[in-house]
Amino acid sequence: MALHTTRTFQTLLKLAFAGLLGASLVAGEVGAEQKQPSPGSAKAIFGSVSLPNQGTAQPYGFYAKGCMSGAVALPVDGPTWQTMRLSRNRRWGNPAMISLLERLSRDAAKSDGWPGLLVGDISQPRGGPMFNGHASHQIGLDADIWLTPMPAHPLSIEERETLPFTTMLQKNAFLTINPNVWTESRARLLMRAASYPQVERIFVNPAIKKKMCDTWTGDRTNLGKLRPIYGHDSHFHIRIKCPPGSTACKPQAPVPADDGCGRPLAWWFTKEPWAPPKPPKPGTKPVKPREVMVSDLPNACAAVLAAPSVDSMQAATFGGAPGAPAVAPMAVVPAAASDEALPDIGPVPDDKPSGE
Ligand SMILES: [Zn+2]
Repeated sequence: MALHTTRTFQTLLKLAFAGLLGASLVAGEVGAEQKQPSPGSAKAIFGSVSLPNQGTAQPYGFYAKGCMSGAVALPVDGPTWQTMRLSRNRRWGNPAMISLLERLSRDAAKSDGWPGLLVGDISQPRGGPMFNGHASHQIGLDADIWLTPMPAHPLSIEERETLPFTTMLQKNAFLTINPNVWTESRARLLMRAASYPQVERIFVNPAIKKKMCDTWTGDRTNLGKLRPIYGHDSHFHIRIKCPPGSTACKPQAPVPADDGCGRPLAWWFTKEPWAPPKPPKPGTKPVKPREVMVSDLPNACAAVLAAPSVDSMQAATFGGAPGAPAVAPMAVVPAAASDEALPDIGPVPDDKPSGE
């Protein structure tokens, strides 16, 4: 019996490795997801809009259920950042998010030994649900940052599409940081991001959180903002608070006051979060979740969709970097999705439903 239990546990661990490694190796391509959004769904409609609406910046709803008005784009390139996967047209965000990214990129380059940010998905031009990659990122207040430093040369458009993600995890080991990849500068980058008062959560892999808990010797006041979650082993996810005055933005409960290094983190190192889903009872049909429609989102989202567009992408680019190339969005391709789709396994930590 004991042997059997051990074997089962080993199998579960192997499953977990396979899942984690698989997610990293294929750069998070989302096998179980749709290739194309269903016509008429909120994902299809928001995904087909190429420019933001005219109007003041306003998040409507919640990180994982909403949309945004008056988005601005992070310039394709800045002195201390480059944006990735341009075909996805997800460089859009609330001005508070975009200015924070620019600031983080400058501060990290100046003080943390991090040459610049590779910025992944922020949001679609009018926010809303996306057909691949994310549950959140809907109201312009979430952004993904690669854990790969910005190269010294400007990446070509092609390189931005194809540069593979680099996992921080060790191959063939359970939730273990690869010491050959991890660096102090990554730790400093994360804590720099956590240091801004408007940042309310940063999602990282549980192994990264543990590494930070075990090794961070500086001020630990903001360590609790680092929240362990599935995936997020090659990028981290910054979430900012509802900006002041955004009355239609639904805030998330604040993180607990402690550093988050205790019991909730230990849970991730048990088999429970990695257990395969329970098989359905014999004779029951699996219930397919209903597609989210625009009418499921805050009422303002239909008006955001109907509102006239800004004149051009350039006109809505934040600050603007002189000489930055203007890149028209290509058709959105389903490949190379972000690595943040969550496996549908096990019970979920308190961060998950709203977190990702
Ligand atoms: Zn994200």
